[in-house]
Formats: sequence, C-alpha cells, structure tokens
Amino acid sequence: MDGVKCKRCKENDATVKSRKEPFCNKCFIKFVSLKQRKLMMTDEFYRDHFKVLYGKDLVNDGISKIVLPFDYSSSSFSALDVLVSLLKEQRVQHRGRIGFKIELVTIFKNEKELESFKESWELLKISDVYGADVWSQLNAHFIDAESFFNDTDGLEQIVLHNEDFNSMGMDYVVPAESTQYKIESLLASCPNRNTRNDMWIFIVTHLVKKFTYQQQDSQIILWAHSMTKLADHIIGLIVKGRGAQIAASLDSGKFDHDYDDRFKNLYPLKNTLLSELDAYCIITGLDKYIVNYSVRRDLMIEQEEVDTKTNDPNKNVRLVKNMTINELARKYFDDIEGEYSNIIATVLRTGDKLKPPAIENKDCSKCSICLNTIYSNPSEWLRNIAINKGHPVETDEERELYKLWQESQVGIQTGKYLKLKEKTWSEGHEILLCYGCIINLNGINTREIIWPKHEEEELQSILSEYELSD
Ligand SMILES: [Zn+2]
Ligand SMILES: [Zn+2]
Repeated sequence: MDGVKCKRCKENDATVKSRKEPFCNKCFIKFVSLKQRKLMMTDEFYRDHFKVLYGKDLVNDGISKIVLPFDYSSSSFSALDVLVSLLKEQRVQHRGRIGFKIELVTIFKNEKELESFKESWELLKISDVYGADVWSQLNAHFIDAESFFNDTDGLEQIVLHNEDFNSMGMDYVVPAESTQYKIESLLASCPNRNTRNDMWIFIVTHLVKKFTYQQQDSQIILWAHSMTKLADHIIGLIVKGRGAQIAASLDSGKFDHDYDDRFKNLYPLKNTLLSELDAYCIITGLDKYIVNYSVRRDLMIEQEEVDTKTNDPNKNVRLVKNMTINELARKYFDDIEGEYSNIIATVLRTGDKLKPPAIENKDCSKCSICLNTIYSNPSEWLRNIAINKGHPVETDEERELYKLWQESQVGIQTGKYLKLKEKTWSEGHEILLCYGCIINLNGINTREIIWPKHEEEELQSILSEYELSD
C-alpha cells in the first residue's frame, strides 16, 4: 500500500499527522523533543542547569538536580524521554559527562495507587529502554498525599463568616479520640467535584514544591503540562474567579517567592498538544507504562480507517453536568484539538502574556489557603452583591417553625457551625482568603476547613516518602 510520505524527510512513510502535517516516527519524535528542548534553553539560568559545565562554571560537581513531577501520564513519560535522550547525547558528546540528574516525584492517593505506580516503574526498569548509565541519574520518589496533614502542630481551622464573608482561624488540635486529620475527610466535606478538584490540585502542587524546597540543591521544577492542559487550566481559573492568578501560575522567569525563592517553575511542554504527547508515547512504546490515563490515537495515521469514537471507552462516559470546570474545558479542547488546535495555542499565548494586576498598595496579602495574591477585598465585594442576613423571628408561628428547623439535620449542623463561629471569632485571629477560596469554603456545609499554616516549620516538616533508586 502506498502511504503518504513524511513532509520533513520526504523519505519515510508518514505515521502521524499533526497540525495538518504528515510525519514519520523519527521526524515526529524530533519535532516533539525539539519543542521541549527549546523551552529548556529559554535563558541563561535554565541553560546553565541543563548543559554540561566545565572549569570556572562548575559549582559542586557541576550536575544540577531537576525535579520532575511524575504522574504516569503521557505528558510525564514524554517529558522524561526527552530528558533521557538529552542525557544520552551529553554522555557521548562530553565523554561520559552529564549536566543534570532527575528527581521524579509522584504523589499517590492510597496504597493501591502506589502499587500500580511502582509496578509500572519496575516494568520500565526491566524493559531495558534506557541503559544502566541512565538509571543511575534517575531517582523515583513516591510521596503519600496524606503528608499534607503530617505536621499536626502546624494546622489551623479556618472558618468563614456566613453573613459578611470574613474569615478567622484558630490553631487546630487533633481531637483526642481521632488520629491524624485525613485528606479523605477534607475531600468528603467538599460540596462538589469542582471544589474537590481545586483542593486536590493545590495539595499535589504544594507537596511537589515542598519536596523541592527540602532538596536544597534543586532549583528547577519541570512541570510536564501540555499546551492543552495549560489552556484548560487558564480557562478554569477564569471561570472560577481566579483570573488574577494566571500570570503568576505560568511565570517561569522568577524564583517561587512562596517557597523562599528556592526554585523556578518551568513549563517546557507548553507548546505541545496533549494528543502529540499521546502519539509520542505510542511511537516510543512508552504508552505501556501509563497509569490512570488512556492515550488517544487520533493523530496516528494507521487509525484513520477505524472508527476511533466507538473504540475509545473513555469518551463521553461522564455526563456533562457532572464534569468539573477543568474537565469541561478539557473536553472542549479535546474536541477541537484536531481541526482547530490554533485556538488552544491562542488561549495559551494570551494567558502567557498576561501580567499580574497592577496594584497601588505594594504589600498585597496572600490567601491563607491557596497562597495566591489578593488584589482586591473579595469579602467586601461579596457583601455588596449578596444579602445574607436573615429576617428575625417575631411571631409565635415563626418561633414554632424555627424550633422544628433547629431540630432538623440542617438545623443541627447550623447550630454546630454557629458555636464554632462564636468560638473562632472570640479566640481566633484574622485570616485572609481570595475570592475563589471563599466561594469554595462557602459551599462546604460547615464553612470550615483544616489547613496547614504556610510557615517555615511546615515547609520543613517531614514528608512520608518511599524512594526507589538504583
Ligand atoms: Zn520523516
Ligand atoms: Zn485562595
């Protein structure tokens, strides 16, 4: 059968078609990996961390440590593969010398998930895709998500006022009858998947950053987020009223100020579509090791005759009304990726160009939950648009109904909340929250949340970690 030829080398048959261009395997791998490499060399800071250093440039052994958050998705594997091929190249060109090594960090929810991650990692190791000299440059760390609440002395209970949207906090003391506060309890208190997803993203991000902070000698976190994922992140932030955070969340130029300026956040896959990373994993055979995600074969040419829509079990299983904002944005981008992928690029480019809001008073406060800068007073704004004060009970009939309500489930819960609120408002201290977090907290029945205090002690508290290394 006569296939389409690759447009780049004009020699091999094309196997992948992306952005309207046919590629052969070899040229496609080069295409994806060059995009990543280019962004890894954006400026001198990054160049110095990735390249092989000689003579006067040498600090310590001259080998920098790159932290790679690794969730066993196609994006993680392609990012890793590109890094590994760079390492291999350096070894050949510099007679055995390399510029960096990789610390892979995986956050797991429970033992079952940890097992599947470890299993996949072991399979990859024995598969011989990378040589022994590569494995010595890779360390796999597995961090228990519960680590988030490990430092029991550093927790506080944040309570939102039901009428004026202000918030107060108190040190949280783990009740005598229970053990550590669990992520499960936190997620269970969330009113919907959207809030849960918001919390989960923060937990994972914080743990990766805390890990990097504790590494001391690591100055780069290489986030393997595709252009598609970043575009849904941008749209998600806008919808959730967190638009002001976009600029800060994509900034790779500055050190991360919330973590003592110890590292920078790099997004070198931001010019690559998710479907391209899927195709990359299919071609390299890395798709076998992916956990919790199924690759899409949309770009594979051999698949064009097959009806992929009926083959893909993951497609449209969730009803649109049950989707989180991020999933909705992702679905939209998934649907347009083939034909209109330039829209995704436009969203990303626009988001990337945004600057943080210009502010008159320089000392802006930070949100105690998500650590984002608060640019305007969200409580005041919410007070102006919402009427939250109830009508006082006056007649006997009203008193009777009020009593019935007090005894109901909602009434009991409200009673508990009012008691907690009273205590917090008399004993606690003021807490500042951003608009997005106030909305999340207002959706939680008890309008309260247990959360780590963001202070040095918390950052230094020990993470529960499993390490697999050679
Ligand atoms: Zn080619
Ligand atoms: Zn917040």
